[in-house]
Amino acid sequence: MSKFKKFASLIAIGLAVVLFLSGCRGQSVADENIATRIDETPTINWGVKYDTRLFGLMNIKDRTVQGFDIDIAKQITKEILGDEGKAEFVEVTSKTRIPLLKNGNIDAIIATMTISKERLEQVNFSDIYFSAGQSLLVEKGSHITGVDSLTADDTVLVVKGSTSAVNIREAAPEANIIELENYSEAFTALQAGQGQAMSTDNAILLGMASENDKYELVGGTFTNEPYGIAINKGQDDFLNEVNKALETMHDNGTYDKIYDKWFPNDSDGKAAKGAKFNA
Ligand code: GLU
Repeated sequence: MSKFKKFASLIAIGLAVVLFLSGCRGQSVADENIATRIDETPTINWGVKYDTRLFGLMNIKDRTVQGFDIDIAKQITKEILGDEGKAEFVEVTSKTRIPLLKNGNIDAIIATMTISKERLEQVNFSDIYFSAGQSLLVEKGSHITGVDSLTADDTVLVVKGSTSAVNIREAAPEANIIELENYSEAFTALQAGQGQAMSTDNAILLGMASENDKYELVGGTFTNEPYGIAINKGQDDFLNEVNKALETMHDNGTYDKIYDKWFPNDSDGKAAKGAKFNA
């Protein structure tokens, strides 16, 4: 090989390495097109709760996570990818879910998450798939009868990163608020007497009341909390696939079947087909 040819092939190899490395950097997980990726590798990574009875709860006996959100995620995966499709679950809390989505650790959040104007600045949401409202959980016989009865002597337990933590400060400005990391910590704190009430969505509180009959919901709901599936901005193809899957599930009866499995004899939270968020 002549000296010139050797030099030229060294330059070519160098260029190829630079192009390869810059290509790798440009295509970070958070930037990839999810709709294209799942076509090639049929797995959707869902961010779900692991500590919320009825929606996403880890069963320590068989190490599976179970709940309404989980079943909806599995069915959406099946509608989009067919029987080959795999739904993988990653634990999120109210505080960690948006950062995990933004970093590309998960493809979507289905975790008792309210669609709100503030959150829409960071992520996109699917159509509404469940309708909840914020309420209070107290020990039976408590002097607290609703949000209006909370005073400066009462402490309310909420979870970091939830809409409930923001709403309760507006609804009961007098009350003391303590923010915990997740719902199991908050319920443990309530049982230990570290607060007189706990506040979040009625459907989540019902799951706790069903676990311990010393507690009850009081005062009805004082906000609307429409749940949506959060997806990163710039993933419109995937978002459309998710909305189409939800629509099909309303049409083919799988949505109702899953709803009735988790909330038998109760249709309060059922979302209408194609229900949209109105700010
Ligand atoms: N739905 C409310 C929210 O999105 C409360 C439940 C939760 O913390 O996930 O913040």
